[in-house]
Amino acid sequence: MPRIVKTKGFILHTFPFKESSLIVSVLTRSAGRIKVLAKGARRPKSKFCGTMEPFNLDEIIYYKRETKEIYTLSDAVVLNHFEKLRCDPKRVNGASVLCEFFEKSLALEQPSYSAFSLINEFLKRLETIPQRLIKPLVLIYLLKGLRIIGFMPHLKSCVRCKEKIEPGPRVQLSISGGGVVCSRDYDDTVVFLSNQAYQTLVRIYKNQEIQFSLKVFDEIEKFVTRYLGYHLNRLVLNSLKFL
Ligand SMILES: [Zn+2]
Repeated sequence: MPRIVKTKGFILHTFPFKESSLIVSVLTRSAGRIKVLAKGARRPKSKFCGTMEPFNLDEIIYYKRETKEIYTLSDAVVLNHFEKLRCDPKRVNGASVLCEFFEKSLALEQPSYSAFSLINEFLKRLETIPQRLIKPLVLIYLLKGLRIIGFMPHLKSCVRCKEKIEPGPRVQLSISGGGVVCSRDYDDTVVFLSNQAYQTLVRIYKNQEIQFSLKVFDEIEKFVTRYLGYHLNRLVLNSLKFL
């Protein structure tokens, strides 16, 4: 017997299915990322009309069968359409980056309230942040997302020999090692970050106030892009390129 589940969720991604339906990837509050089939959702008069837009926050009801990977969506109501984002393509793109990140990095059915909560907080901030700070904001939340999926870079001591790092003007981060390394443990995947960029990473993970310097965030972007590619199975976030 299928079980009826009611929960809230963010629409991460949709894929056309057959003539008129959609398979929808949803980051839910209670069940992690799930896939549901929205039958007939592409028909103009579908009951799902307007509910399956990317990064909508919806209340959904679906039928869960243990034997299936894709569940049948029964009903959906939009709770937040994030209207202020939709009229600015740059903000839409920013929202897409985090959706794409969770779509590609979260396994199905791994409950993660922290991922749900992070994307909720991110979208709310993205609605009002000045446009020039969109990219830094996206990078901050990508880094926080890395912590949620268990890939937070190690920043305190050398990842190889555990020696405490006293950050100088430049700090060495080993992409393959997953964090800072001392000069003895230099490897060919090391990237150099300015002290300011390094301190910004530390502050992000301590949830402290960040000074938005675009130069610093250019450095952080290069680091994050390489880090994601290395640790998440060559993950490339297409939407990040257009930010
Ligand atoms: Zn070392």
